[in-house]
Amino acid sequence: MTEKIPNASVHQLAEWLAAAKKEDYRFVRVDKRTFNVTVDFFLEMPPEMQRALRFSADPAASLGVRINEPIQLQGHSDEKFSMFLTAYKARPSPPLPASPSNLLVIGELAARYRTQSLTPWFRRHFEAFILSRPTNPALRSGPDEIFLGSMNMAKYFFGTNSDVCRSLTDRWIKRLHRKELDPLIAMLFGYAHGLHSLRAHGYYTYMVSVEQKIMQNEPIDVGGGGRLEAFHVRHVMAGYHSLRAYSARMFLNAPEFERYGAQAPTSVSNADHDRNRPIRTCHPDEHKLCVTAWEARWIMASQTPSTVPAIDIMQRLSVLERCLRKDKVLQKSMNPECMNLALKVVVDKIQKISRQLQHHFDF
Ligand SMILES: [Zn+2]
Repeated sequence: MTEKIPNASVHQLAEWLAAAKKEDYRFVRVDKRTFNVTVDFFLEMPPEMQRALRFSADPAASLGVRINEPIQLQGHSDEKFSMFLTAYKARPSPPLPASPSNLLVIGELAARYRTQSLTPWFRRHFEAFILSRPTNPALRSGPDEIFLGSMNMAKYFFGTNSDVCRSLTDRWIKRLHRKELDPLIAMLFGYAHGLHSLRAHGYYTYMVSVEQKIMQNEPIDVGGGGRLEAFHVRHVMAGYHSLRAYSARMFLNAPEFERYGAQAPTSVSNADHDRNRPIRTCHPDEHKLCVTAWEARWIMASQTPSTVPAIDIMQRLSVLERCLRKDKVLQKSMNPECMNLALKVVVDKIQKISRQLQHHFDF
């Protein structure tokens, strides 16, 4: 199989004809460029796709036998097809493409044309790309397009319940919360593809990004370039009202935590407690001071002005947790183990909110 350029010389045409005698091939047109592709490529396609392209193994019944009646391939550029074809020619183990974007192009066209002979190769390299440690630079700092392309491939080649899909979703969500990717893109993609976690975090980060507009009663789909429909807006608003009420309650009421040693027998006073244990069980009387200090410092810290809007409750709780962890008053007033338990409650709460976001958005 040989790739050809459209303005082929007479010499090249002669070469094509010579090649045609050795192996069965079809002329293919992508944009204004003509390619010469072996029939194997078409034979891997499902019959309905072959029919739609008017390909037949029988030359008398097929397009692409003559150069002026090529098989037309659409929906991608000729550069992309050329890249794919280079990999196809080197199947089953072509060299690894120069960039993740190129790998995605090959995967995208392999999926499009159901090219099974490239599937094992693509799955192996794509999985390594997504699951690589340390984090692949393309996923660490690449644009939205890398995530869109990768997620399409992850879904197609591995399924939504795969480690590949989960890992990609986690990275996408982390970067959304760091405001490095477009929340609207994640929200719409998550919604359209039934990726619940991505959808919820897309809605959440989009809601945070338009909070000022909501507060000023401005339409929130203006920045969306008309991509938002009424039901999207309804979900965003449901999330806003729910999380605002939730966040107000949370910041006014310090989360409860368990007394250290509450699970152990309480009859032993600290004085009699096993001296070999490095940390004392918190006695119920002493624990009252733990609770008072925790509640007072919680209220104080949560009322301190922050650059993070209160509606971004997950980010606010993270800031609050870091701030309380360093709080000298708490360190002096609380049993250290009680303090750890209290801080852990905050971390758990963030994780719980993250897992249950969909309830706030009324999905
Ligand atoms: Zn305590």
